[in-house]
Amino acid sequence: MKTGLITIAYIAASALFILSLGGLSKQETARRGNWYGIIGMLIALGATAAAMDPSGWPILGGVLIVGALIGATVASRVQMTSMPELVAILHSFVGLAAVLVGFGTYLDKFAAGNVVEDPGILLVEIFIGVCIGSITFTGSVIAFLKLRGSIGGKPFMLPGRHFINLAMLIGTIVLGVMFATAAGVSGNPYLIGAAVLTGILGVHFIMAIGGADMPVVVSMLNSYSGWAASAAGFMLSNDLLIITGALVGSSGAILSYIMCRGMNRSFISVMLGGFGTEGGTVASTASGEPAGEVRSVDAETAAEMLRQSKKVIIVPGYGLAVAQAQHSLAEVVKILKEGGTEVKFAIHPVAGRLPGHMNVLLAEANIPYDIVFEMEEVNDEFPGTDVSWVIGANDIVNPSALDDPGSPIAGMPVLHVWEARDTIVMKRGMASGYAGVDNPLFYKDNTQMLFGDAKKVVDEILTAMRG
Ligand code: NDP
Repeated sequence: MKTGLITIAYIAASALFILSLGGLSKQETARRGNWYGIIGMLIALGATAAAMDPSGWPILGGVLIVGALIGATVASRVQMTSMPELVAILHSFVGLAAVLVGFGTYLDKFAAGNVVEDPGILLVEIFIGVCIGSITFTGSVIAFLKLRGSIGGKPFMLPGRHFINLAMLIGTIVLGVMFATAAGVSGNPYLIGAAVLTGILGVHFIMAIGGADMPVVVSMLNSYSGWAASAAGFMLSNDLLIITGALVGSSGAILSYIMCRGMNRSFISVMLGGFGTEGGTVASTASGEPAGEVRSVDAETAAEMLRQSKKVIIVPGYGLAVAQAQHSLAEVVKILKEGGTEVKFAIHPVAGRLPGHMNVLLAEANIPYDIVFEMEEVNDEFPGTDVSWVIGANDIVNPSALDDPGSPIAGMPVLHVWEARDTIVMKRGMASGYAGVDNPLFYKDNTQMLFGDAKKVVDEILTAMRG
């Protein structure tokens, strides 16, 4: 009876997690999706507590309270722009948990005198779980340190690094065979060896990937952490953990694919590493000369240009998020709409530093969903637009992605802002974006640069419009 109820609870929780993922894929249903996830998790926790021996409840309660307090504090303090590093460090915990579950299960189940059913399958599950967990743990810690800037974003590449990776992989497989054929718990040294070796592999693998690709790596590690959790589910014979892990694993993989497509990078080339700079370098030509002449306007002139426009398309980017200019921008949009201007937002799939970054910012400022469009929906509309207004975006509006086959971002789909009658580009100076490449948009005849912090300048535009 009790087992049946727990199974039903696990199925309900799994269904809620699937509904949650479905809900989170659209802005209109995101809140509901979040609630499905929260309820699913509460049911899962309740069922897990009911399934265990009541003597373990005080420990479970203790760790839940401590975990919930830490989680709530960290989540309420984190800036949106720091979200990838938070996600990275959380993945490292999942990886570490899978490693500990692996060792715990091995030492417990294979202790002297125990009879294990299907020992071969369990040993493979333990070994895979520990290896994926270890690579996820160390890789996520490195990704966290790179995103935080504690270690440089530049790819660190040892000579023959692919060979080193391959040698470590072969070494791990050899240890796996020795582990699986060892009697009792005598395979422990091999398991420790494999955990250390895959840990080093995780460090080496992620060190070679540049800062620009780090968000893809975070989503890939998200996928790994899901598979590590799934492996832990097999070891603990917990169906819910297997299902949830598989959901996380596959959604992380899909997200990595979406990001790679948005940047026109193949997943393999991201994983092979070597792409990306520290970011934020001042753009210039190869000769060191400025790449062209730049025209600039002040906030009053920009406000007038916007007010006189029949149609404005706003392109938000990473700088908008850093400056937190979304609330002032919402006010400007309101004034423009009241004045009869048609206003649309154009969202590039990799604008900002994580997928959906811009949508979350705009939703925070209560900008109506029906004026927010994906790149494919709105990219043809620039020719009929009076002003395209680029706020803190750079790479996603770089025409060299289309015109210059030699550009590091060649082939990346971009927003064709330069096809509008006028373009206003708002940023603090002439620094490059995350990909570290020059942007010819800034030197086009119909581009006006508006220099300054996005929040400060949007506030000035707002004041000018109100005046
Ligand atoms: P970029 O990083 O290309 O450019 C942002 C620009 O904002 C900078 O050039 C900077 O110029 C400006 N800026 C920074 N701070 C401020 C501020 N306070 N006020 C005004 N401007 C500011 O951002 P995009 O959004 O255009 O492109 C995203 C990049 O991130 C792409 O290269 C994408 O491939 C990459 N990426 C995104 C992922 C995602 O999932 N979204 C995943 C992986 C990578 P200045 O310093 O002169 O002000």
